[in-house]
Amino acid sequence: MPFYLKGVILYAHVIVDIANSQTDRIYDYSCPDTLVPGSRVKVPFNGRIVEGFVTGVADDTEYPKEKVKAVFSVYDELPALVPECFSLMEYISKRYRVPYALALRLFLPSEMRRGSVREKTVSYLSVEAELPEGKGTELQRKTMDFVRERGEAAATEVYGVSSSNVVRNLIKGGYLRRFDKKVERTPMKGNAGETAAKVLTPAQVAALKSMDECPQTVTLIHGVTGSGKTEIYLNRIAKVVEEGKTAIFLVPEISLTPQMLAQFRQRFGDRAAIIHSGLSSGERFDEWWRLRTGAATIAIGARSAIFAPLQNIGAIIIDEEHDSSYFSETAPRYSTLDIAKRRAEYNGCKLVLGSATPSIETYIEADEGRYNLIKLPERINGRPMPDIYTADMKREAQRGNFSGFSTLLKDELAETLKNGRQAMLFMNRRGFSSSVTCMECGYVARCEQCDVSLTYHKEDNCLKCHYCGATYRMLTSCPTCGSVHLKYGGTGTQRITFELKNMFPEARVIRMDYDTVSGKDGHYNILKKFANREADILVGTQMIAKGHDFPAVTLVGVMDADMSLHFTDFRAGERTFQLITQVAGRSGRADDRGKVIVQSYCPENYILRYVVAYDYKGFFENEKAVRKISLYPPYAQIVRIMVTGEDNDAALEALKNVFFAVQALRDENPDDFIFFNRMHSPVKKIEGKYRYQVLCRLRDDRLFDRIYEIAGKYGTPKTLVYVEENPSNLS
Ligand code: ADP
Ligand code: ZN
Ligand code: ZN
Repeated sequence: MPFYLKGVILYAHVIVDIANSQTDRIYDYSCPDTLVPGSRVKVPFNGRIVEGFVTGVADDTEYPKEKVKAVFSVYDELPALVPECFSLMEYISKRYRVPYALALRLFLPSEMRRGSVREKTVSYLSVEAELPEGKGTELQRKTMDFVRERGEAAATEVYGVSSSNVVRNLIKGGYLRRFDKKVERTPMKGNAGETAAKVLTPAQVAALKSMDECPQTVTLIHGVTGSGKTEIYLNRIAKVVEEGKTAIFLVPEISLTPQMLAQFRQRFGDRAAIIHSGLSSGERFDEWWRLRTGAATIAIGARSAIFAPLQNIGAIIIDEEHDSSYFSETAPRYSTLDIAKRRAEYNGCKLVLGSATPSIETYIEADEGRYNLIKLPERINGRPMPDIYTADMKREAQRGNFSGFSTLLKDELAETLKNGRQAMLFMNRRGFSSSVTCMECGYVARCEQCDVSLTYHKEDNCLKCHYCGATYRMLTSCPTCGSVHLKYGGTGTQRITFELKNMFPEARVIRMDYDTVSGKDGHYNILKKFANREADILVGTQMIAKGHDFPAVTLVGVMDADMSLHFTDFRAGERTFQLITQVAGRSGRADDRGKVIVQSYCPENYILRYVVAYDYKGFFENEKAVRKISLYPPYAQIVRIMVTGEDNDAALEALKNVFFAVQALRDENPDDFIFFNRMHSPVKKIEGKYRYQVLCRLRDDRLFDRIYEIAGKYGTPKTLVYVEENPSNLS
């Protein structure tokens, strides 16, 4: 028995940090009576020492006492996990079918596990004894004076005026003392300085009152871009912090811009902690502990910040709630909204969602009264929304213009440059491997069975449906009008930049896409250049769509709206509406009225008509009806069982097993299945792993347990089998 187990012995319930169904239970270990629930410990387990989490401590154990082993050591003075973690752990493990250990890992920054990052300490020096009169070299005396004047001085600073040899000898002689001091790695510390709040508009005051007083837990703020939502969030947070509570504020990773973070730092100073992927692991570690110890009370971050180690939460806010980055793409495949609702209920606080283009699922909840709905249809100070025009690219082609630019966009660009203003040109990231469009009549190849557009697969030279796996032969001419001007996929940012240079040789153009953005600050630097007006035109993918305020931008061009319209995805319409509305919001932020040109081969499409009219409600009603009739979520459930592995034969074997098991399930419950098949995944191989899938469309979630069971049964060490519910991306 270890030496420290003196006095009262208790028993700790421990979950070992091994994500494996065989070890997914609670083990008992003897421990000192100082151990508290939530602590991270090291315990002996199957002949090794492993990390574990203490879920509880009891006087007794049900196991035979002589067999119970002792906790080996305890990690932190303050338990890392707050009590709420265990209630969430139970929920997550059940809802997303993952072992406890995997659920608990969500609550700790990854750098904390296995102790890979520690507190940062800096070496300091202080005077221990004076050099005797007349002794020591000049440099030694100078060094002593330097340290004495400062009381204590960082060793690196002292080396600046002295040398490490001199310092070492002074320490040896007992004249200087070296000690370690903890420092905090706080990102963007320079911006701290608490600034005053703005005087709220009546609409903002009413919104705050409504979210406070409504009976619902969840409030949705549906407010156009620039309607003052951020100011409402800031006020809400300020209020709960004043009451002594804590707050969580979530934004999509891509909108965690320096501008946005500076705004929070300015308002809340060091009370705000920032958690995002751009931080060094040391910074993330320190920010996390500041939240845990209560030094910071506001957590700001992307998806993972929903797991911030806060207690007594008074407000949870999710900005741009429709963003797909709120769904985790690795196990546990949680929805951030789902976790946020649990935390709000546990803490008895309100949850606020905000968006200019709420997701269909969220708006249905608000529309039917389960969420409190606040509408902000106007911009602050009555600034007008930019005018949106569509340019018909079919007509351009019929006139012989096969370039990426319509006459309208070209003219508006010339005008913008002449006025010394800036323009942003937006293209779709997935533009390359997308649909097939007839440039003369706007025909788009669609699957006969699924009513989604087909995807061009270059490597097989064929068209495929991502929902049923059907393969179609390549088209050489348009089946509707016979034209041979067919367009495969979109135009890349490179090509657009090239055309721009030819049209406007004097214009300064910068391009931002996944090729030009490298390193953690790459895209910040490009945006900064544009903000400083070192360029006239910014060409980019959806990275430029969000969160940035460029007052001199008066023109936004959407180069190829159809690319997202014809995503091979049931959310295509929704995505298009969201993206175009979002980019349109970049135009005319300041005093000049903005313009937006949306280029399309089918400008008569209903989605574009709603976009141009800023008619979210009309779009919503239409989209809801379509989903109801054609049985897509939330009126049905899409479940994909992924089978992937490096060994193709093993993967195929697992696929076959999964397929037959689901087939048996379908035969037992024929009415639950709308559709079901097995196929290659649209992307056949990623990072050397073959990818197959069984895709099901189900009437509801009644059979989910059975499906997860099947996936759990046929996974092997060689082949990963997992379930995705209503995946936002079917590649
Ligand atoms: P949203 O988050 O809805 O896009 P913001 O909160 O960013 O809108 O507000 C848009 C602009 O209006 C910002 O420049 C912001 O500083 C300004 N603003 C917001 N609220 C007020 C207010 N009460 N008084 C003056 N300006 C405001
Ligand atoms: Zn045609
Ligand atoms: Zn199909």
